[in-house]
Amino acid sequence: MTTEYERMLDRALRPRDRLSRGRYAPSPSGPLHLGNARTALLAWLQVRLSGGRFVMRMEDLDRSRVRPGGAKQIIDDLRWMGLDWDEGPDVGGETGPYEQSARDGIYAAALARLRDAHTIFPCFCSRKDIEKAASAPHGSDGPIYPGTCRDRDLAFKETGGGSTALRYRVAAGRIEVEDVVTGSIVQDLSRDVGDFVVRRSDGVFAYQFAVVVDDALMGVTDVVRGVDLRESTPRQLALFRALDLPAPRYWHVPLMADGDGNRMSKRDGSESVMMFRARGGQPAELVGQLATSVGLCPPETSVSVEELLNAHDLSSFTHVLRHIGRVGLHIAPRRRN
Ligand code: GLU
Repeated sequence: MTTEYERMLDRALRPRDRLSRGRYAPSPSGPLHLGNARTALLAWLQVRLSGGRFVMRMEDLDRSRVRPGGAKQIIDDLRWMGLDWDEGPDVGGETGPYEQSARDGIYAAALARLRDAHTIFPCFCSRKDIEKAASAPHGSDGPIYPGTCRDRDLAFKETGGGSTALRYRVAAGRIEVEDVVTGSIVQDLSRDVGDFVVRRSDGVFAYQFAVVVDDALMGVTDVVRGVDLRESTPRQLALFRALDLPAPRYWHVPLMADGDGNRMSKRDGSESVMMFRARGGQPAELVGQLATSVGLCPPETSVSVEELLNAHDLSSFTHVLRHIGRVGLHIAPRRRN
């Protein structure tokens, strides 16, 4: 019998009509701040300038962080800016569902492939255990897993309660990803990251794993996202390879800083699109400010997303992004498990 996963995989691997497919994948854990809005705008521009299709995906896997009404507000804010998408939670589409919370069965099927290939193992270490391990050096994303459980019995049984974390056993060797904006990203996962979690001990699939399954099965060819996720890319590439899935191209774009030069965040009350709207701001004003901040239009310009699209082609857009990628702020990567 063909499973849902196989059906989706089959479609994802079918030779494409060469159309690019981009996506924006917000987490509905707080209001969309201006930095999020700028990344969404850049992702939209990249795919529209390529004549491709745009997918909206809600990354709501971690139920404990989801804010009630958050997804609806994000969608409303993005539409207010003038952005549109061809597939998404509110419009449907053939690669859905578009909420990660509705894709558990798909992740479980992908996970079974890793288990069959003996590339994952159950890990009983707490965060404290890992931090305490005398030899645990720190990578860019926290302490490097010391390998305590990596040789555990592979034929472990799922207990059903999902009380054991599952980690992907990384191989030694260089992984290199050519990022369109920031150039080459090189890591040796065994040295720089260590075996990483694909399913948490509370049963929630990890971001690193879900994002790979989704990007592949949604046929994404181009990922435009914040540079804070750049260091995650080699981990994701390792999973694409382990699952025999096609990997997209990556465009890591600078994060936006607030007036004090600090990185914006959903928690610290950074200027949000909602606040901008509440003050009577207009879409063209916001889009103008966001586009100006990356050099896509002259200062003090009010501009609609359509006008911005008409003012650029893919090559001028890429050129501008490469420029800000070089001069962009260096922001410490955020922690990801
Ligand atoms: N959901 C992630 C976020 O809101 C983005 C993930 C990605 O673009 O890969 O930060």
